[in-house]
Amino acid sequence: AGWWSHVTPAPRDPILGVTEAFLADTHPSKVNVGVGAYRNDKGKPVVLQCVREAERRIAGSKFMEYLPMGGSVKFTEFAIRLAYGDEADVLNDKRVASVQTLSGTGACRLFADFQKRFKPESLVYIPIPTCHHNIWRDARVESRLFRYYDPATKGLDFSGLMEDVKNAPSGSFFLLHACAHNPTGVDPSEEQWKEISQLFKEKGHFPLFDMAYQGFASGDTEKDGQAIRIFMNDGHQIACGQSFAKNMGLYGQRVGCLSVICSTPQESVAVKSQLQQIARPMYSNPPLHGAEIVSTILSDPELKDLWHKEVKEMADRIISMREALRFNLEKLGSKLNWQHVTDQIGMFCYSGLTEEQVDRLTREFHVYLTRNGRISMAGVTTGNVEYLANAVHEVSK
Ligand code: PMP
Repeated sequence: AGWWSHVTPAPRDPILGVTEAFLADTHPSKVNVGVGAYRNDKGKPVVLQCVREAERRIAGSKFMEYLPMGGSVKFTEFAIRLAYGDEADVLNDKRVASVQTLSGTGACRLFADFQKRFKPESLVYIPIPTCHHNIWRDARVESRLFRYYDPATKGLDFSGLMEDVKNAPSGSFFLLHACAHNPTGVDPSEEQWKEISQLFKEKGHFPLFDMAYQGFASGDTEKDGQAIRIFMNDGHQIACGQSFAKNMGLYGQRVGCLSVICSTPQESVAVKSQLQQIARPMYSNPPLHGAEIVSTILSDPELKDLWHKEVKEMADRIISMREALRFNLEKLGSKLNWQHVTDQIGMFCYSGLTEEQVDRLTREFHVYLTRNGRISMAGVTTGNVEYLANAVHEVSK
């Protein structure tokens, strides 16, 4: 027998499987609303102008050396300013430990490993539904679920969430999405975030924010950062995983940042050194190019303005497609309530379609999406929205 004859194939990735099936379909009207990456109104991937300009400036740079273990310091400095705000006390006080990570996923994983090493008995609570289970599972942190999404309203299960936060053992870790929760597109309101923050204080819970969509959700980086600011201003020592995949369109560059607010500058130096120590035997140090692009954009007022404009264009296109999808469903006379399509925010619409309805969408209408009914609004265009609405209407009658 071979060395690996006992190895059976891993289950297929549900999202990548959707794309494969889409590519294999030859129907002219086929629609891919499975993929979690931005597309323009022609259905094409986009490279932002600010990124093109930053690349032009970087091109010819003599620097191709390794970055330090914690990544580019210039990059992390600008990333945390974006997350916490230029004037944040925690930045002035030098209380934030930050390292460059392999995008948002890498930030979460690095934090999970850190949690396991320095709070070995702690639990992590993950929202239902989520895309994050496997990260903490592989880091061998015990996880539990907390209520988040209410299928009846297709909105937030706020009372369920608050109850679960209350009933969790004091000092638990909670994974929160800073904005544009994936896969539901459902976020707490500002008032609700304030209440959640207060209850976290009473319970002594630890908030870890996964922020994969700052600016991409509402079009405004400050607004999308409000949850973080609320918790920070309430004095929580939060951690935050940032991704520049969506908001700068840098998906494959794998550029992200993990930051941890500490109680003193000394603590932050220690935490940073330990995060680096965890990264070292895994990948030694993170990649250079994406960090150079992001720090070039964020450190230049003109490029940063251009980025703000471009990220808003992406957000606005998605918001307008939500309106168009809902409008068309209503125009077709659907008896169902589609308000959640426009209430939800960010890349995804958690449509409420059942697995059977999704299967019909794919089989009869060549519309591809994950079986949980998650529609990537980034795949919706003025050219296909009527077709999509009609297909959704037909299977949900
Ligand atoms: N967090 C959330 C909420 C996401 O939606 C995603 C992307 N699907 C990620 C993290 C990870 O993205 P990346 O690793 O590409 O930054």
